[in-house]
Amino acid sequence: MPVDMEKIVSLCKRRGFVFPSSEIYGGLGSCWDYGPMGVELKRNIRDMWWKAMVQERSDVVGIESSIMMHPRVWQASGHVGGFADPLVECKSCHLRWRVEDLDKEGTMSEDGNSRRCPSCGGELTPPRMFNLMFKTFMGALEEEASVVYLRPETAQGMFVNFDNIITTSRKKLPLGIAQIGRSFRNEITPGNFIFRTREFEQMEMEFFVKPGTDEQWFDYWTKERFSWYLKLGIKEKNLRLHPHSKDELAHYAKSCDDIEYLFPIGWSELEGIANRGNYDLIQHNAASRRNLSYYDAESGERYIPYVIEPSAGVDRTLLAVLIDAYHEEVVENRERVVLRLNPSLSPVKVAVLPLSKNEKLTPMAREVYEGLCADFMTCYDDAQSIGRRYRRQDEIGTPLCVTIDFASLEDHQVTIRDRDSLAQIRLPIDRLKEALEAKLKGEAFESSSLWAAGRR
Ligand code: ATP
Repeated sequence: MPVDMEKIVSLCKRRGFVFPSSEIYGGLGSCWDYGPMGVELKRNIRDMWWKAMVQERSDVVGIESSIMMHPRVWQASGHVGGFADPLVECKSCHLRWRVEDLDKEGTMSEDGNSRRCPSCGGELTPPRMFNLMFKTFMGALEEEASVVYLRPETAQGMFVNFDNIITTSRKKLPLGIAQIGRSFRNEITPGNFIFRTREFEQMEMEFFVKPGTDEQWFDYWTKERFSWYLKLGIKEKNLRLHPHSKDELAHYAKSCDDIEYLFPIGWSELEGIANRGNYDLIQHNAASRRNLSYYDAESGERYIPYVIEPSAGVDRTLLAVLIDAYHEEVVENRERVVLRLNPSLSPVKVAVLPLSKNEKLTPMAREVYEGLCADFMTCYDDAQSIGRRYRRQDEIGTPLCVTIDFASLEDHQVTIRDRDSLAQIRLPIDRLKEALEAKLKGEAFESSSLWAAGRR
């Protein structure tokens, strides 16, 4: 059974992962702020995505496009006319619901009236379309001519830069353009903590291919993306693939597979991989009057490429990672909460803990801390008992704790404690970096040569 969402929300608040936005003013619906632990975890997720999708590939390049784009981008892409969710409103309590969500729970007729409001049981209005894009005005005048939108996806930044990238990168197709950035959707039913919010971050890649090779690339990227979540350390039993049926497909998509995670709210989308065909480039080609076709020098053909798009959410991935890593267990008759995070994702890699606040231990512990922090995200903590400090590090998923005790003053050795096995080894300070590096590479603590050398 997945952990309760309340436990995750509470851990996130308690340990500085995620706070309600503008909390001192009562919070702002479905907006969240990432605290010191949250930003590190988020950065590690982004880095792992960028490494797998850009750094380690010669066929993908990165960009960062602006959040506000020319309004004609959104007309051409179909978002102005069609980026809408049908919603129904309760005539009694006026809460709004997405037809899609009510549909998931059972059947819902076209008029929306075969079901009652899930909150108060009241009668529902017929479904109405609700555009999900946030509108604002550019410049001093609030008039129709100065309307701009906050982007609801990063993808269009890649399509409108396709020509720039092809002419400047000296790359041939197949070629991917990747981007990580904020997107905004005026969701009708945001909620479930950071699962669905109105401001969120996406990690998207548009992979441009020759028509006819698209299906093969679609299968390739579906497998590739699924295995990325396994590399993050998410358990395979909590992941599944959901291929879209014809009536679930977005208007632009030829096919789409969702990677779903077993969230406490049930199986839900983590990432969508879509075969967008040549829809977007055709639309922009026509609307901008810029030739967005590609000349294939090898075959001598000119064509509008097809696009495979893996589109993931940073926030949803972070939530899945936290849920998957969360464990409650009893150790020596005491309960502990531990985040068994992949060490590459852990916000803090190593905690330096002097046994007590002491005029002799403190300078030595500070020296150890300063020797590590250039290479690892390191934290120094000398407040409260050592047991409580271990618990605090367990709850944020710190893989290793280094303790400096009175014997350290004599023998220049420190004790390293492993988060998962609770095994401890004692090592000379000058071998500390080596031990930490091995652990962060995923070496099992007990099997490393350092462990054999330093076993207590
Ligand atoms: P859903 O149906 O769950 O709203 P979607 O199918 O509209 O998602 P896409 O347009 O495919 O989502 O966006 C790609 C990814 O961006 C999603 O898989 C998800 O991880 C993330 N995402 C989309 N909307 C939100 C949101 N409102 N809050 C947080 N993440 C989101």
